[in-house]
Amino acid sequence: MSLHLLHQFPRLELLGAPTPLEHLPRLSDYLGRDIFIKRDDVTPVAMGGNKLRKLEYLAADALREGADVLLTAGAIQSNHVRQTAAVAARLGLKCVALLENPIGTHAENYLSNGNRLLLDLMDAEVIMVDALDRPAEQLAEQATRLEAQGFRPYIVPVGGSNTLGALGYVGCAQEIAHQSEEVVDFAAVIVASGSAGTHAGLAVGLEQLLPDTELVGVTVSRQAEAQLPLVERLRQPLAAQLEVPATAPITLWDEYYAPRYGEPNDEGMAAVKLLAQLEGILLDPVYTGKAMAGLLDGISQNRFRREGPLLFIHTGGAPALFAYHPSV
Ligand SMILES: *Cc1c(COP(=O)(O)O)cnc(C)c1O
Repeated sequence: MSLHLLHQFPRLELLGAPTPLEHLPRLSDYLGRDIFIKRDDVTPVAMGGNKLRKLEYLAADALREGADVLLTAGAIQSNHVRQTAAVAARLGLKCVALLENPIGTHAENYLSNGNRLLLDLMDAEVIMVDALDRPAEQLAEQATRLEAQGFRPYIVPVGGSNTLGALGYVGCAQEIAHQSEEVVDFAAVIVASGSAGTHAGLAVGLEQLLPDTELVGVTVSRQAEAQLPLVERLRQPLAAQLEVPATAPITLWDEYYAPRYGEPNDEGMAAVKLLAQLEGILLDPVYTGKAMAGLLDGISQNRFRREGPLLFIHTGGAPALFAYHPSV
């Protein structure tokens, strides 16, 4: 295949097997359209999620550099930080995390339950910051501090989103192409677009493997015009590394993330309940609930380019359900 260069990048095997790609019969009946789901919420480390695919490449790089600390940053309820802490534990490395409270809440469950509880359980060292407003610099400062203490920190960027981490989602596109081959012709793939590594990796992979399938990124943090350069700044170097073109239009839907990152909305929570009640599948209040709200509205507003089955990428996040209960 044209993505043959992917296999030249060192990767630590953490997933073990492709994640399931399943049909959702009751949701499909309810909507009158076939909906499939890619179960990246059940990747096999510490309650799963999409960051594990990125960490396969990032952790391999950290080990190659002889690192003894994975240093990263995110929200108090970051799924990314939780998965990074889990990988660190598994590799016998220390994990240090810079955390911010992006919604300024004092709600007890937000501050100590859900993903945050799991960080303590996995013995991550947490450093609270007022705001992650210049994350690259803030991480570099902490790296310097750790080096002065004799550690060898490896910086995992916010969301694991750099061109190395995004390779994980080129691999996911390969899985999808393989799992859908001669069975389903997806009209569109729908994914939450945050730090954008997931979106960019899928964009590069799907353009090569399923060029007639529309990829829709539902933004969870910002307007499309601000998200587009984030996706593009990962997609172009990623495609260049793999020596493939990346010219397909990038589709971003930004009508579903309000009021802001990390704060649930009614449509997203209704989508969480719908999937729980029709399929026993747990979405989350921050990412996948909002992305599913986009899918549902996209059907009712006829926003997809063509008819046919849809594939929703379930990127994980259910541990945050406990953090957002009863409300923020
Ligand atoms: C991080 C995350 C995303 C977004 O992925 P990005 O690569 O940051 O865009 C989506 N869903 C969940 C549950 C996440 O934790």
